[in-house]
Amino acid sequence: MKVTVVGSGYVGLVTGACLAEMGNHVLCMDLDERKIQVLREGGLPIHEPGLLEVVQRNVAAKRLEFTTDVDAAVRHGTLQFIAVGTPPDEDGSADLSHVVAAARAIGERMTDYKVIVDKSTVPVGTADRVREAVAQALAARGMELEFAVVSNPEFLKEGAAVEDFMRPDRIIVGGDDERALLLMRALYAPFVRSRDRLLVMDVRSAEFTKYAANAMLATRISFMNELALLAEKVGADIERVRLGMGSDPRIGYSFLYAGAGYGGSCFPKDVKALLHAAAVQGQALRVLDAVERANDQQKLVLVDKITARFGADLAGRVFALWGLAFKPGTDDMREAPSRVLVQQLLARGARVVAYDPVAMDEARRVFGDNPGIRYADSAAAALQDADALVLITEWREFKSPDFDALRTQLRQPVVFDGRNLFEPALMRAMGLEYHGIGRSAAA
Ligand code: NAD
Repeated sequence: MKVTVVGSGYVGLVTGACLAEMGNHVLCMDLDERKIQVLREGGLPIHEPGLLEVVQRNVAAKRLEFTTDVDAAVRHGTLQFIAVGTPPDEDGSADLSHVVAAARAIGERMTDYKVIVDKSTVPVGTADRVREAVAQALAARGMELEFAVVSNPEFLKEGAAVEDFMRPDRIIVGGDDERALLLMRALYAPFVRSRDRLLVMDVRSAEFTKYAANAMLATRISFMNELALLAEKVGADIERVRLGMGSDPRIGYSFLYAGAGYGGSCFPKDVKALLHAAAVQGQALRVLDAVERANDQQKLVLVDKITARFGADLAGRVFALWGLAFKPGTDDMREAPSRVLVQQLLARGARVVAYDPVAMDEARRVFGDNPGIRYADSAAAALQDADALVLITEWREFKSPDFDALRTQLRQPVVFDGRNLFEPALMRAMGLEYHGIGRSAAA
């Protein structure tokens, strides 16, 4: 099939590459000339494991192409995926300007039947707005052409995006145009061969499902984070509690980890957008409201532990920071807890020496030329003469550190573990002072 993907970021690029992998002819479009330039030169504008190989293979097979040319993009695909950003607006609602602009651009140029697929995470009712934008653009040209709008929210996880797209837990398609649904079923058939995981529903339920799923995941995290705070106070160990809870199949183990708060480009903004949509309807979402507030607080938990240990004034202190990305496997730092941590440490007069396997270029962009932060070439190098180590992203390479180096390189053998990566008893045995999240002295 001929597919156009509008927006070549984390979602658009993975979608385009994986659809090409199944034999489709895909044209990925982006207005960002730098991104398209990098892709045309055989590189990737983002870090995503396994993606480069899929992109290169399909470019070589001429099934995957990149452009900034809107005319060419609209001409190419019968299926027009919209995978542009939907960042939070000032009031917390999802900013749909990019989605609507993309839809209008299609309406202004199309000359035959198109299926417009909303892949971006968009609030309930957006398909109607997209339909309107296309219809208005067509009317302005004095044209009447058939088209359909379907919702197809994306559930991939950064860091495992290719795997998630190729082997999805489910694919959700919302729509009522039979011709469009037939095309969507055909497009996704190779991805759901072993078991039918394609759920077709009405457009509004499909749009809602994406927010509901992210809100549920955020809820589990905030719930565990608050329990961890209480566990510390009552002398229980949240890791043992997690194992005890997760063994109940009704609960399960996923997303039960306490830590330094959730970040990323999805949970914070999607929780905000759902809360905003609820407020517009006059419908309270009390649980979700608390989830967001708990997370804002949780991003400060490491700062609280650091100041409890070293005092409120951190002038002259140096902290080694392991991790900058909002989670392992990505260079994405949108809403990352590391941003709050660094900003708080610098505001208290401390300096930070940071290391992240892939997000340091992104960090340089985020923090600019702030003299308070330096970047180390390796995890070990960051430790040199720091007062303590603070770990905030659970990269695999941090999991089995050189404990002797930790003890000898740090000025004081103190470790703040924002992801509960280490065992408190082991750390103590190694002569390290350990501060986890919700860990007890008995653990
Ligand atoms: P991104 O910022 O990485 O990519 C968006 C791209 O769209 C950018 O490259 C931008 O230049 C481009 N763009 C904006 N307006 C355009 C236009 N009119 N025409 C062409 N290109 C345009 O964003 P992302 O992380 O890929 O997210 C895209 C959407 O997918 C969002 O709604 C997000 O919530 C959703 N989503 C993201 C993830 C994730 O893990 N990143 C997962 C599921 C869903």
